[in-house]
Amino acid sequence: MNRDKSIAGIAASLQPYLPKGTSDLIAAWIVDDGVRFTVSRPRLTKLGDFRAGTRSMPAAISVNGDLNPYGFLITTVHEFAHLACHGQYGRRVKPHGREWKRIYTEMLAPFIEKKVFPPEIEKALRAHVASPSASSCSCPVLNRALALYDDKDTLFLGDLSVGSTFLFRDEAFKSLEKKRTRYLCERLGDGRRYLISGRAQVDSADR
Ligand SMILES: [Zn+2]
Repeated sequence: MNRDKSIAGIAASLQPYLPKGTSDLIAAWIVDDGVRFTVSRPRLTKLGDFRAGTRSMPAAISVNGDLNPYGFLITTVHEFAHLACHGQYGRRVKPHGREWKRIYTEMLAPFIEKKVFPPEIEKALRAHVASPSASSCSCPVLNRALALYDDKDTLFLGDLSVGSTFLFRDEAFKSLEKKRTRYLCERLGDGRRYLISGRAQVDSADR
């Protein structure tokens, strides 16, 4: 199939997930890089991921389909920056090191120039890429700015103070202790303990 046709087809299918006017460029990246791109069901542990290609398999990127359009775009660019960084440096550099961040910033630039992002998100994004410690996929400031554009009020376990009671997958839990990125929680029904990600979407039991 010719390139323009492929791009137009992919752009049309990605349109619902992305901010207006951005799906053409993302579709062009997908076609030109020959990457297998999938919209994934929501995963609690990650927003997206990148797997390098092998001799028999193309590189693969997946992005959670429940993200709001800005989060979907930022995550997509994040993962494409991994792809580009891997192409240039292989495994010689850290996944979110200096090289990756330079590429990520360059790849975000066309979207920032086009004023795709609302001011709060653009500001958080600029701070995120400028900060030398912005090392991971999760940035609380950016996540908060993005959450402003979620349809529903999204409440993450990490937003609650330790000791709160909350609902997770329709069951009541109480958080007992923070352990790095996860929380030790007790299920109120039977007292069993679980480690739950701070990024888990929960409902407040107090509401
Ligand atoms: Zn990453």
